[in-house]
Amino acid sequence: MKEQRRVCRECGSNAKIVRKDHHFTESGLNNVFLKGIEVVKCAKCKSESPRIPNHDDLMRTIAVALIDKPSELAGDEVRFLRKYLGEGGAAFAQMLGIDRSHLSRVENGAMAISRQTDRLVRTLALVHEPSLLEKLKRLGRYEDMLQRLSAIDPNTSPIRFQLDHAASGYTYDLKTAA
Ligand SMILES: [Zn+2]
Repeated sequence: MKEQRRVCRECGSNAKIVRKDHHFTESGLNNVFLKGIEVVKCAKCKSESPRIPNHDDLMRTIAVALIDKPSELAGDEVRFLRKYLGEGGAAFAQMLGIDRSHLSRVENGAMAISRQTDRLVRTLALVHEPSLLEKLKRLGRYEDMLQRLSAIDPNTSPIRFQLDHAASGYTYDLKTAA
């Protein structure tokens, strides 16, 4: 197989394209990993830049994975969903029926989310953005959603979100982080 080469954006020398897992910290979350995506890797300046396909579907899939996760939402996950929905803190707090300062304490991790607010954030997201609901259905995760909402584990165990890109869009895998 012919090795693909690209020009490094940082230093302009020839760079290689390799396939590897990418820790997608650009999402604002610390537990999202993309499986086997192309990364432009420069031997000269050591820079690595991922080539992330289908960005819109990626962000949508992360949102759906958060809605689907079996444990309580962490603050940065609530923030991700709020931003995905394009809402500011004040408007989102109002939709949830909580104080804006309460929401910001939750998002900053200074306060755990309540069980009611956790469920409400998820259902609100699905109502707010029907494409999330469609994606949930397409991935076959819709049928038992109400059951899973009832069974959210209040003990937040860290979940590792592993996303895999396919021709039909991203899929996700929820793994309890070791
Ligand atoms: Zn370089």
